[in-house]
Amino acid sequence: MARRYVDLTWPELAVAVERGAGVILPVGAIEQHGPHLPLDTDSYLAEAFAIAAAARHDLVVCPMIPFGYRSRPLSGGGPGFPGTLSLSGATLVTVLGEIIRGLVGQGFRRLIVYSWHMENQNFVYEATWTALERCPDAKAVVLEAPFADLSAASMSALYGSDFPGWPAEHASILETSLMLYLCPERVRMERAVDDSVAFAPPYDVIPPRSDMTTKSGVMARASLGTVAKGEIAFAEIRDHLCRTVEFEFPELSATDEDAIG
Ligand SMILES: [Zn+2]
Repeated sequence: MARRYVDLTWPELAVAVERGAGVILPVGAIEQHGPHLPLDTDSYLAEAFAIAAAARHDLVVCPMIPFGYRSRPLSGGGPGFPGTLSLSGATLVTVLGEIIRGLVGQGFRRLIVYSWHMENQNFVYEATWTALERCPDAKAVVLEAPFADLSAASMSALYGSDFPGWPAEHASILETSLMLYLCPERVRMERAVDDSVAFAPPYDVIPPRSDMTTKSGVMARASLGTVAKGEIAFAEIRDHLCRTVEFEFPELSATDEDAIG
């Protein structure tokens, strides 16, 4: 059973730190995910994978950071959609940095920062880097695009030969499938649509051009999401996270039931 930071009492937290437990910080976003997925899809998925890893390793799951960096038109629809709430880069780095410094201050020396939202990349790294700069005995692993290294077999199962690229996959097959697998009651599958951006240049425009995103908020094909695809992707992404934990923090591999009870 995974251990959530907020479920612990202070003596239990102290015992976990004393034992050398690791801590995993999920980072998400509140961002439109088409007409069929909830606004917290990125946050929900980041936390779901963190909890899954903590069920297998001696990890405490820190409260998820629900807000992420500014949504961008080609990878998340941009700021124009109802519901999207974003932080500036400076604020995100500050918030994450203070939480990570707080965890290090509590005594944690093994940290995993796990972000699902593409636009958080680099800000998550920067916050972790600066937070650990003055703590040489702490180590952090930063995963900024944990969905991006699915095996060829899984990519084929999900996309056939028609993978649109990760930015365009926003609110499409992967996220729809994962949510159908993890929390089908939160998916309005009857409203899932297929869509595509009219104009996807290799640059950005500020203020955003309306043709650089879609009207639906889905960037590719949400209708092809299935529970079976979600099961495949969830298992592989979870296992990849667990292998990363085992490789970087072999001492966190649970060997007795009490360690993660
Ligand atoms: Zn997403």
